[in-house]
Amino acid sequence: MERTLVILKPGCLQRGLIGEVISRFEKRGLKLVAMKMVQLTDEVLNVHYAHLKDKPFFQWIKDGMMAAPVILCCWEGYSAVQVVREMAGATRASKAVPGTIRGDYSMSAQENIVHTSDSLENAKIELERFFTASDYCDYPSPLDHYKYAPDEL
Ligand code: ADP
Repeated sequence: MERTLVILKPGCLQRGLIGEVISRFEKRGLKLVAMKMVQLTDEVLNVHYAHLKDKPFFQWIKDGMMAAPVILCCWEGYSAVQVVREMAGATRASKAVPGTIRGDYSMSAQENIVHTSDSLENAKIELERFFTASDYCDYPSPLDHYKYAPDEL
C-alpha cells in the first residue's frame, strides 16, 4: 500500500471545508494513518516549495500557507499517490475539472485548498518532512476485503 501526504491549506480551514475534503478521501476508501494541525513556518516552506523559489509569486505562496494553521494528513491505499493527486485536480483551480476538490471548491491558482504529493518518491520525502514514526497509527482495517481484490492488498 502506498502512503501520500495531503495538506489541507489555510483557506480550507478558514472556509470550513476540512470535513468536506476529508470525507472525500474517506469515502473513496483511503485510510487515514496520521494527522496533525500545525502552523507552518517560512523555513519549512522554503524547503517544501523549493521548486518554486524563482517564481515571482513565491512569497505569496508562502504567506498563503502561513495565513492560518494547516492540517497535515497521511492517507494510505492502493495507488494512493495517483488517486489522491487526481482527486485534488489541476493546480490552477479555475481550470480544474468539476468533481475534483479544486474544481469544486476553488477558483484560484494559489488558494487551491489542498497540497498533494506528486510522486511516490516525493510522498516519502514530504512525509518525512512533516511526520515522525510516532505520529503514525497502526490499526486494523476490517473492511479492506470489501474495498480491494486480494492482489491489491
Ligand atoms: P501542486 O500544488 O498542484 O503540486 P505546484 O507544486 O506547481 O502545484 O505549486 C505549489 C503551489 O504553489 C500550488 O498548489 C499553488 O498554491 C501555488 N502556485 C503554483 N502555481 C501558481 C501560480 N501560477 N500562481 C499562484 N500560485 C501558484
